Amino acid sequence: MEQLRKGWRLSGMVGAVAFAVAGMGGVQAKEVTDTDILNDAENTSQVVTHGLGTKGQRYSPLAQINASTVKDLVPVWSFSFGGEKQRGQQSQPLVHDGKMFVTASYSRIFALDVKTGEKLWKYEHRLPDGIMPCCDVVNRGAAIYGNLVIFGTLDAQLVALDKDSGKVVWKEKIADYKAGYSLTAAPQIVKGMVITGNSGGEFGIVGRVDARDAKTGKLVWTRPVVEGHMGYKYDKDGKQVDNGISGTTNATWPGDLWKTGGAAPWLSAYYDPDVNLIFIGTGNPAPWNSHLRPGDNLYSASTVAIDPDTGKIVWHYQTTPHDGWDFDGVNEFVSFEYKDPKSGKMVKAGGKADRNGFFFVNDRTNGKLLNAFPFVKQIDWAKGIDVAKGRPIYNDDKRPGNPFTDGGGDGKKGKTVFNAPSFLGGKNQMPMAYSPATNLFYVPANEWGMDIWNEPVTYKKGAAYLGAGFTIKTVADDHIGARRAIDPVTGKIVWEIKNNAPLWGGVLTTKGGLVFWGTPEGFLKAADAKTGKEVWSFQTGSGVVAPPITYELDGEQYVAVASGWGGAVPLWGGEVAKKVNFLEQGGSVWVFKLHKS
Ligand code: CA
Repeated sequence: MEQLRKGWRLSGMVGAVAFAVAGMGGVQAKEVTDTDILNDAENTSQVVTHGLGTKGQRYSPLAQINASTVKDLVPVWSFSFGGEKQRGQQSQPLVHDGKMFVTASYSRIFALDVKTGEKLWKYEHRLPDGIMPCCDVVNRGAAIYGNLVIFGTLDAQLVALDKDSGKVVWKEKIADYKAGYSLTAAPQIVKGMVITGNSGGEFGIVGRVDARDAKTGKLVWTRPVVEGHMGYKYDKDGKQVDNGISGTTNATWPGDLWKTGGAAPWLSAYYDPDVNLIFIGTGNPAPWNSHLRPGDNLYSASTVAIDPDTGKIVWHYQTTPHDGWDFDGVNEFVSFEYKDPKSGKMVKAGGKADRNGFFFVNDRTNGKLLNAFPFVKQIDWAKGIDVAKGRPIYNDDKRPGNPFTDGGGDGKKGKTVFNAPSFLGGKNQMPMAYSPATNLFYVPANEWGMDIWNEPVTYKKGAAYLGAGFTIKTVADDHIGARRAIDPVTGKIVWEIKNNAPLWGGVLTTKGGLVFWGTPEGFLKAADAKTGKEVWSFQTGSGVVAPPITYELDGEQYVAVASGWGGAVPLWGGEVAKKVNFLEQGGSVWVFKLHKS
């Protein structure tokens, strides 16, 4: 580690000389390699992946900022995304070669001088009328590879820009935005390929994972995650070659419903080189009304493991079979190791805090369920998870009713049920963190419920395809959010910090023994990772719904986070939205370091 850092300092100095020459002569800036991507979790002088490493642990080995020094953490600069486009800011910034790359609402990306915050360039994607993002005009970040910075847009395109000039190098259409597709997640680079899913699960789209040559944008393979659809590979001339059907047509879907089956993998993919698997979560089956689609409806609401070399599904684990509550299984599956208490052997595992309120631990080599326990206090739809069978034990009376057989049987509206968690989930898009120092997951949880009912619906291209109605409700008087430290082996909540508004921002943890996260009330906060004692906070001027990062520059540790309230809560939050409608919008990125007295 120390050796690596020394090596980096040295090459950094060489780089500085080259840069000075570049200023006069035009020598190329530093490119991002596969090694940079794979070393991102250890290399503290850069952040070149979504997740601070492709495993997505969001753990940094930096320790300069710690429980005793954090009181001196002060802002260095702040940059405004400007304009009238101040909506939800969910971007995780990247840092490389003296620049910060941060995306913003309405498909914008900025390159900033990481030392001063000075704007180097901006790219503002020209969006057509009629884009259909379900849950605000957000973007969650970019990927970086070679001399390119790559991000997705609300009209379902992938744009690669020269990271030094901001000029477009390639642009590829992922899907038809008029059918409800969009792209809001940060792409992930795996073996020189840019891996993306798609958004649009509320419009009856077909969830799909694509791998493209990161340097050219050309498809390498595409893998649908709705059972019954054909996957494809592309040869070097770009010719499409059949690559096998995902699963077996009609095994878990009746009739033609798989053709509009949803299961959008709308958050980032992660990658573990130890097992050579891409992990991505899939969204709700479409429509929401589960009575229309008897069966498990694979591969909706699942963790899916894909071999990057073949584009084939190696294993899947469905967290909510036959979902009837919009319990998307999209949340990040984070690779980690633990010692099995019985055998004493180290286990290659992955953890996921699911929308449905349960935390799942799977063997990441084969998907086998190892442990499952609640991470929120109220769960109505299931009594628990049968770990041996790997399936939930449903409370059947908590499935919203069939409009044609109950609720008066008039075919218009089925029986309304109250269920917790709400469809916005025990946890939503905001990524958790895992610390190999404390062996704990730090989960941004929310406690809430909903009234939900079913209605008839038929598929129409580009129209909402739900067949359900809902009102989100609070379940506790004093809080909705709860920042929780969770032991994945015992299933215990070790500590928690309650929050009035629903938490919607991601988490960072460090070797310095700290956990950082933001709140809709506008604070970036830090707590002691072991005890949960809050040790620092700073008001950023608008709600924080993005994950913080940390990095080192010239021997000093920095923390950065985007600020700007928005996302799904104010749009879909029912009674909860009314509770938070005093929060102000914004759009900026903040950078902090320790003040030297
Ligand atoms: Ca959904």
